[in-house]
Amino acid sequence: MKKNDEFILNIEDMSVNGEGIGRYEGMTFFVKDALIGDLARVGVTKMKKTYGYARLIEVVEPSPDRVEPVCAFSRRCGGCQLQALSYDKQLEFKQRLVENDLRRIGGFTEIPMESIVGMHDPYHYRNKAQLPIGTDRDGHIVTGFYAGRSHRIVPNRDCALGVPVNKTILDIVIGFMERCGISAYDETTGQGLVRHVLIRYGFRTEEIMVCLILNGEDLPCAGELIRELAALPGMTSITVNVNKERGNVILGTGTRVLWGQGYISDQISGIRFRISPESFYQVNPVQTEVLYRLAVDYADLGGTETVWDLYCGIGTISLFLAGEAGHIYGVEEVPQAVEDARKNAEENEITNVEFFEGKAEEIFPAFYSENTGRPDVVVVDPPRKGCDGKLLSAILTTAPERVVYVSCDPATLARDLQILCAGGYRLKRVRPVDNFFQTVHVETVALLCK
Ligand code: SAH
Repeated sequence: MKKNDEFILNIEDMSVNGEGIGRYEGMTFFVKDALIGDLARVGVTKMKKTYGYARLIEVVEPSPDRVEPVCAFSRRCGGCQLQALSYDKQLEFKQRLVENDLRRIGGFTEIPMESIVGMHDPYHYRNKAQLPIGTDRDGHIVTGFYAGRSHRIVPNRDCALGVPVNKTILDIVIGFMERCGISAYDETTGQGLVRHVLIRYGFRTEEIMVCLILNGEDLPCAGELIRELAALPGMTSITVNVNKERGNVILGTGTRVLWGQGYISDQISGIRFRISPESFYQVNPVQTEVLYRLAVDYADLGGTETVWDLYCGIGTISLFLAGEAGHIYGVEEVPQAVEDARKNAEENEITNVEFFEGKAEEIFPAFYSENTGRPDVVVVDPPRKGCDGKLLSAILTTAPERVVYVSCDPATLARDLQILCAGGYRLKRVRPVDNFFQTVHVETVALLCK
């Protein structure tokens, strides 16, 4: 078997990245854009020892679960991997993904899986868009999303997962750059000014934030851009963020307000949150409420407990838990997010929470080496790389009754749950929540008891 060989492949499974998987002459092949249930003509693109990659040439017999993608760019764009799969099957895929990781990586045999929570409208759910700005071959300024596994921009100002106002804003920003001769950043040379545009929209409040990420201190002719953006209904915050570092990190440190205030507000379940450009905020506000309610349910509080919300961002889960706990401590490493969290507690008149700025794996163990007492419940909601080993050890040492793990990556969730279970905890409940329709990503909430 070698590059460019063609054959017909029966797609029997799907990988964690959403590629179709089939076996041919004893080898496993991964095929982008092929779906489970497809009979497909494929061409080999790369061979490894026991597996290979192939491209989809033609769907010979389509899977019964194929649907017409809403977005014209869905195959080229790296953002959505599952648009051609019916929504029910996407949910099945994610349920299986979480269960498989817990089995394979976590070594769990009996898994108390509860069925995944989906949502009705699987488009236009994202409250945040973060788009790279670049230049095409003809010298035109473009924006859109990166093609899969690359930094090539697939031009698209109207992503089907985002809100309609994104397009209006991007048209204004690109029009302004063209008129005023403002350059787009070029990753290969490190030259050019505008790197990214970050847009946030408050689903409940209809407030809008636009932040331009610059490879420089100043935006020439900013007044002209401000005039146009500020005229949009709901515009609340126009800022610039400076990032002169090479590399993939989008936001730099330091954000400056050009117009309005430095943050927008949104509301979940009657709690109002302020969100700065640098703070994390869940991208799907409807499912976020489901996710947080599940975390509160799993925490099973009686009104007196000491609870830690580690990796707390702007304090969302802390404030959700506050009404049912004795005292909450939140820990977050991004200073702006901690500032937002404190303001959020104040504005919602919630007084039994306290936020610490710093790394969870440092603050939490230090607290219990300096203070007596122990936590009753620990909630963790780490980024994709999961919890730091030092934090997991500290959880085992302080031995809370319950640990609620909110995860955006089933593989690191499985790894961390295995460590906690080896240290004396038992996995009691697991439930995936689909916050990221059309993509392979999934949130999961898990409950561990001592
Ligand atoms: N629970 C929040 C945020 C979850 S995202 C919410 O639902 O909105 C994960 C958060 O962890 C981010 O805000 C990130 O800045 C923060 N973070 C990442 N590594 C950290 C660490 N080692 N210690 C503390 N916070 C960290």
